[in-house]
Amino acid sequence: MDLMEKIVALCKRRGFVYPGSEIYGGLQGFYDYGPLGIEMKNNLKRLWWKWMTIKHENIVGIDGAIITNPTVWEASGHVKSFVDPLSECKKCHRRFKFDDLKENKCPVCAGELTEPRTYNILVPTQLGVIEGEKIQAYLRGEACQTIYLDYKNVLDSTRLKIPFGICQIGKAFRNEVTPGNFLFRQREFEQWDLQWFCHPSELEKWFEFWKKERMDWYKGLFSHPENLDFFEHSKLAHYAKKAFDIQYTPSPFDGRELEGIHWRGDWDLSRHSEYSGQDLSYTDPETQEKYTPNIIETSGGVDRTFLFLLLDAYVEEKERVVLKLNPKVAPYKVAVFPLLANKPDLVNKARKIYEDLKPNFMTAWDDRGNIGKRYYSQDEIGTPWCVTVDYQTLKDNTVTVRDRDTTKQERLPVDKLCSYFQNYLK
Ligand code: ATP
Repeated sequence: MDLMEKIVALCKRRGFVYPGSEIYGGLQGFYDYGPLGIEMKNNLKRLWWKWMTIKHENIVGIDGAIITNPTVWEASGHVKSFVDPLSECKKCHRRFKFDDLKENKCPVCAGELTEPRTYNILVPTQLGVIEGEKIQAYLRGEACQTIYLDYKNVLDSTRLKIPFGICQIGKAFRNEVTPGNFLFRQREFEQWDLQWFCHPSELEKWFEFWKKERMDWYKGLFSHPENLDFFEHSKLAHYAKKAFDIQYTPSPFDGRELEGIHWRGDWDLSRHSEYSGQDLSYTDPETQEKYTPNIIETSGGVDRTFLFLLLDAYVEEKERVVLKLNPKVAPYKVAVFPLLANKPDLVNKARKIYEDLKPNFMTAWDDRGNIGKRYYSQDEIGTPWCVTVDYQTLKDNTVTVRDRDTTKQERLPVDKLCSYFQNYLK
């Protein structure tokens, strides 16, 4: 089994991720997060939100609708730019206009190409109840568009001044030509986006700021930060001066991008202004200068981050499999065991400790099998600490705390447990 197969199997076996609608044979490009997966995903989203909004005075969040007025997707260019016959490279997933191709292989990486087809990456849906009167809309193809739509409302309803940012975490849907590689290329996925609105003369400065800020965030999460680097795009959209991806270099498949940092200039607001007929310009309250704000975008994938974190954390050591996840990301923080399951004194004491920890941390309880098996079971899901209640606990109110990565144990007073764990999770 290769690493990816092991991760997919572990995800299903331990309740991180299941294939979507599996009992009906599944549906390609759709997955469900299980009990452990949702904890880890929520941890990630909370960490992102804290880093991107709570930390910054001038960044706020929104939660936009999945379906918008369909004109939005005309203004964004998604409706028009995806109707030509295109061939997609099966290796690097770049798409090329069939008419422009000189040979039947990818002009960038020489990979095999799919048959040319006319397609639109947007997922259409119909609104209305009367046949013949339904209107066609789309499930959003990228989360950022609602931020542009709400930009004026946010300005009018807050005291923000340029420069400022609007953040969002939300679902996006794409009719990908080649869904695959587990969570990497799905048809329904989640994005975390920041759109940073600034004066055109400051784009350069803010681009560099956000590039660094985003890389720092990812590096703080991964077990091997050295596995992350930047990929600079050479082919740029006409409005862009630069574009970088944050990528996970040792990816075991073709596909490394976690997040794109994009120079969008005034493209988005100008287009929406043109298509909606609304004035989306900004007037500086001090200088009275009127201009269309320029935008730096950081747009990342929650599911891709989830997948790369698992790949990065997976270790096989002698008889155990360990997910060396950052404790802040791990689904469970602590597991509590009684040394023996058939000794009521030990079980009662352990239950009390479990009940006390549970409101503060995701805490697991396990009294099956022997202690060694319980440790291995927690290692495989990345639980950073295991607390065992033994006979000494009954005498002096101390427990053993076993560290996932070193497997070392130390004795700690029960009343110090909370602050001990909290210290790592700050
Ligand atoms: P790719 O080139 O891999 O198709 P993209 O450049 O089209 O990705 P963006 O439109 O910039 O991606 O979207 C921002 C982020 O959303 C990506 O960096 C990625 O993490 C995530 N993402 C995009 N498409 C998918 C998908 N099909 N499945 C899961 N995540 C995705």
